[in-house]
Amino acid sequence: MRAVVIGSGAAGLYAALSLRRLGFEVTIVTERRDGGSTPKAKGGVAAPIDDSDVEPHIADTLKAGDGLAEEGVVRAYIGLARAVLGDVVKLGFRPDRLVLEGGHSRARVLSAGGDATGSALWGALYKAANAAGVDVVESAAEGVLVEGNRAVGVELADGSAVKSDVVVAATGGYAGRYKYSSTDSSGDFLLSLFRAGALLRDLEFVQFHPTGTPEGELISEAVRGAGALLVNGDGERFMGRYDPRGELATRDVVARAVYLEIQRTGAVYLDVSAVDVERFTDLPRLVAKYGKAIPVTPVAHYAIGGAAVDAEGRSNIRGLFVLGEASNSGFHGANRLASNSLLECLVQGALAAKAARAYATSGAWEGPRCDVIEEYEGEVRSGRAKDALWEGVGVMRSEAGIAKALPELAEEDTLSYLIAKAAMWRRESRGAHYRVDAPWKDERYRVHLCFRYAGG
Ligand SMILES: Cc1cc2nc3c(=O)[nH]c(=O)nc-3n(C[C@H](O)[C@H](O)[C@H](O)COP(=O)(O)OP(=O)(O)OC[C@H]3O[C@@H](n4cnc5c(N)ncnc54)[C@H](O)[C@@H]3O)c2cc1C
Repeated sequence: MRAVVIGSGAAGLYAALSLRRLGFEVTIVTERRDGGSTPKAKGGVAAPIDDSDVEPHIADTLKAGDGLAEEGVVRAYIGLARAVLGDVVKLGFRPDRLVLEGGHSRARVLSAGGDATGSALWGALYKAANAAGVDVVESAAEGVLVEGNRAVGVELADGSAVKSDVVVAATGGYAGRYKYSSTDSSGDFLLSLFRAGALLRDLEFVQFHPTGTPEGELISEAVRGAGALLVNGDGERFMGRYDPRGELATRDVVARAVYLEIQRTGAVYLDVSAVDVERFTDLPRLVAKYGKAIPVTPVAHYAIGGAAVDAEGRSNIRGLFVLGEASNSGFHGANRLASNSLLECLVQGALAAKAARAYATSGAWEGPRCDVIEEYEGEVRSGRAKDALWEGVGVMRSEAGIAKALPELAEEDTLSYLIAKAAMWRRESRGAHYRVDAPWKDERYRVHLCFRYAGG
């Protein structure tokens, strides 16, 4: 049995290792070994602290998902979390703190190396995959080879092909398509999956972090927790006008307030005068660069949408698994609970490997569900329209704003265009999707929207 895994983030590495353990010959094809979001991840990996915490973790995840999280998927992933994390610890990942993060009812986020969880996890997984005999080829994948709705291998950038029984795409999310983003993962590979026939689901849901630098460096909530203040271009504190919790309101509330104040007064700064900056890993460097008033903007941080998959990571193309941030399994619903993304990457790898073995031996295959399907006809273009995406389909959306952005997005970049189409279609506000012209939740939209490529 042969498997090709595209991408070497948490999802790709743990899937590769799990496949190898089940007897697959595994090749990872990756653009850059240490690329993607995984090595940049900060806070940690969420998992129930003991058996009594399984139900509370499920409840917190469903609440964050705001009516769109798939309960079966949430139960399956959180039910497996402790076993998978136990395995990853045996592989050398050494969390040293349990942290309470926003939206969690208990301190259940496993953090390592101060704020360096991602690189610690990545290092342990990479070493383990190597030791298990996974081959790594450093090359960009151009696309998946599909014959009769069956994935049979991967085409590389130099035109060569790697044939396999199953293909696992774990190429990361698309938040990097926005002008301001904490990641350079832009989701280009999702477009080649789309062209090959994969369904894309829930694309309108993009999570924004309220305080990034214009270059995309995150400044965590903990800094506000330690006393940092948000000040606008006129030198005034403003959060009190938006929410009684002030600087410590939820991420989406703070992101919208920061966005509006930048529009109104030209800038927003995080004033860290009252903070012991040495307590935070990246803060002394930022203070050396900007002084104690650090310019901030909301940044696109996490792509909830992606290729539609079932709980095992199976896409609608037989033999093609899509995992991690590139996928949309329904685990996060309309909003991601902090630190549930690395958890999803790991658990999916374990589940996908078992499903891959069943497929390779008996052809067994299921696939994802779409409630509403829209066809896309025409050329699939990969370009950049970062400003238009940011202005029209960013932190705050409206019919008029999206309509203004659509022509440019249609011209320049199909993935951005589909994000805008989905945001236009969802005439309500739910989870990470906020429509100023429909600031309510509408039960009729408690459904998943998919896009299907109908050919050019
Ligand atoms: C700054 C930051 C902090 C974060 N903090 C946390 C946190 O504390 N906890 C948490 O749970 N989540 C966090 N996240 C989110 C989390 O890091 C990501 O969701 C997760 O790492 C995604 O893993 P992945 O394996 O799906 O993709 P990635 O880690 O993004 O990896 C994608 C891989 O695909 C490869 N690739 C892409 N395209 C191609 C191609 N065409 N051909 C070949 N290879 C390709 C890349 O080189 C890379 O190896 C954070 C994200 C950011 C940006």
